[in-house]
Amino acid sequence: MPEPVEGMPDDDAVITAEDAAELQLLVVMSRRAAPDQVEEVLSRLDRIGARGRVAPGRESTVIGAIGDRDELASLALEGFAGVQQVLPVQRPYKWVSRETSPEPTTIQVRGRRIGGDNFGFIAGPCTVESRAQTLETAQAVHDAGASMLRGGAYKPRTSPYSFKGLGTQALEILAEAREETGLPLVTELMDPRHVEAVIGTTDVVQIGARNMQNFFLLSEVGRGDKPVLLKRGPSASVEELLMAAEYVAREGNERIVLCERGIKTFERTTRYTLDLGSVAVLKHETHLPVIVDPSHAAGRRDLVLPLARAAAAVGADGIIVESHPAPEEALCDGPQQIPTAEFGEFAREVRSVVELLGKQIG
Ligand code: PEP
Ligand code: MN
Repeated sequence: MPEPVEGMPDDDAVITAEDAAELQLLVVMSRRAAPDQVEEVLSRLDRIGARGRVAPGRESTVIGAIGDRDELASLALEGFAGVQQVLPVQRPYKWVSRETSPEPTTIQVRGRRIGGDNFGFIAGPCTVESRAQTLETAQAVHDAGASMLRGGAYKPRTSPYSFKGLGTQALEILAEAREETGLPLVTELMDPRHVEAVIGTTDVVQIGARNMQNFFLLSEVGRGDKPVLLKRGPSASVEELLMAAEYVAREGNERIVLCERGIKTFERTTRYTLDLGSVAVLKHETHLPVIVDPSHAAGRRDLVLPLARAAAAVGADGIIVESHPAPEEALCDGPQQIPTAEFGEFAREVRSVVELLGKQIG
């Protein structure tokens, strides 16, 4: 048993085995922390109804904090006098964690499924450019056996001079394509001002890579009633992606699909580096379905099939890919879009890997 610290109340002392199971934070005091600084941490914990358990060490004192995770976080203990470090013991996410819900979640939309044995096959144009281009692509991906239709109405573009989508007109065209094919729609929401129009039309709301940490947008779709396709930011860690999903889930909407779409690295031969390891990690950490976007990761259509195969093999719950009747004329992402004339062959190849893995297109 460690020696009690002078001036420390007895019942606060020592982290027992029972306490250890409930610990949320370890507050490491600096070597020179005075007993009244330790006391101050304990009394602040006490005031929010949390408990502090003290482990006095030879070099420095450690306080184990037990209590409500959100309230403990709001104390911002790392700023207290005498505190050297605050270490979270539990994972920082709860709703999306596999520890909370060990069974994998399946997302159902208009009779289509993503998760479990159901491989989601989302396909369609990068961007709605015209009615004809969208309807032709929708029909092609439908005939090839895709399970959902993608298409951008509002486009995040690096250059302010690039085509940024047809907006509400595109939403109308997408609704018509859904009507014709019966495929559920996936389209991106970029701006809280478009919530009504986009959520009102689409079946799945996409939050794009650039908005992964737009916390107001995340909370907004968390209060909505449509499933959310949340893409990983090009510079975001796996933990940041899970924390972004937690923003959505804690508002009440737990119908979330995560999407790995490539990250920024030093490598220049592909548009982004597809981080397939993240898919394996995510499948371990969360019960949410995880899909892969090989189109944006590769930036080249010849790599889309090999990356799609690899995604299925690593355990992804689906893919989202782009197609266009005439990619050389596309207003956005032409080099990576699969010509509609070749989409049937692409889909056959994808399906054969999916079936080899004992799954079906959902
Ligand atoms: C998209 O899917 O249309 C898109 C823009 O992708 P990302 O947000 O991953 O760049
Ligand atoms: Mn695109």
